[in-house]
Amino acid sequence: MTEAKRILVTGGAGFLGTHLCETLLDRGHRVLCLDNLSTGQLSNVQRLQNREGFEFLKWDLVDPYFPEDLAAIYNLASPASPVHYQYNPIRTLKMGTTAIYNVLGMARRLGLPILQASTSEVYGDPAVHPQTEGYWGNVNPIGPRACYDEGKRVAEALFMAYHQREGVDIRLARIFNTYGPFMDLDDGRVVSNFIVQALRGEPLTIYGDGEQSRSFCYVSDLIAGLIALLESPSDDEAHLPVNIGNPVEFTMLELAENVLQLTGSGSELRFEPLPQDDPVRRCPDISRARERLGWEPTVPLKEGLELTIPYFAKLVE
Ligand code: NAD
Ligand code: UDP
Repeated sequence: MTEAKRILVTGGAGFLGTHLCETLLDRGHRVLCLDNLSTGQLSNVQRLQNREGFEFLKWDLVDPYFPEDLAAIYNLASPASPVHYQYNPIRTLKMGTTAIYNVLGMARRLGLPILQASTSEVYGDPAVHPQTEGYWGNVNPIGPRACYDEGKRVAEALFMAYHQREGVDIRLARIFNTYGPFMDLDDGRVVSNFIVQALRGEPLTIYGDGEQSRSFCYVSDLIAGLIALLESPSDDEAHLPVNIGNPVEFTMLELAENVLQLTGSGSELRFEPLPQDDPVRRCPDISRARERLGWEPTVPLKEGLELTIPYFAKLVE
């Protein structure tokens, strides 16, 4: 996609959405951002509102919407932090079901390529390491994470059904833990929690023994992966899921050490109970993204944290 196009970004006022809108504008596109501001920030939208070609509409994607004049859709709207998606599990499941019918309806009606922000959570607490796209996952369908995990799994099934039955040109990005500026101060995910706690001199809250692992992708790498995926050729395999994440694994204790060192904070560690069904290990196999998109992350954790800490430092001043 080289010429300027008008692109819909749902959830564009959120953490990933604000970066995606900005990158698309930088690339000369026009952007329609739909967001109900449930976890997204009006300040993110206001920052972009003086950019030419940016439009914002406060809209709840659970309600049908009938846009015109679009060239592609990135569907990012959904709560993403466990704290947020567990707050109202019924609403979260509506985002995995009703809202997905609505965005797929738009794509079908207008004949648009559409990318779904899926997640590593479709693998649940994985029994296979690292996780390949062929792994079907290990999800508790009635646990506290089910509203998000199962919603994202239904969403993938709906995308596939619209592809197979209606010929919609779909892309499924299985996003692994991503961090960076414009995460909300109260987002509740581990990177923002640790940085904010360290900057305030408060104890870093380690859930469980801190030996569980995640692999953290810096946001600019992630956005480059999403755009490469949407713009990849519509061949026989284009509709298959692709892991987008950083394959370098860290325990939460290692993450805490890095944050303490880079902030120069003297905060202590406070161990708290591990939430139910918290995955023990998580790490993507990104062979498919490397082969199909020529994409891989370039920003190591320390560098990404150095780019993120000043953003939070301004917020906690
Ligand atoms: P976020 O909470 O910062 O952004 C989500 C946005 O969606 C918010 O602006 C929110 O207001 C909006 N939204 C929620 N419900 C809506 C509704 N009913 N109608 C309209 N807008 C609605 O989260 P994020 O980290 O930017 O995540 C974006 C997407 O990427 C989500 O779909 C998430 O599941 C997925 N994802 C993110 C990560 C990550 O590490 N950041 C990992 C895996 C998947
Ligand atoms: N976690 C933690 N302290 C916090 C927040 C999270 O130790 O203040 C742990 C959490 O239990 C999980 C990991 O950090 O093992 C990542 O959690 P996050 O909420 O960021 O995302 P998840 O990958 O679980 O969806």
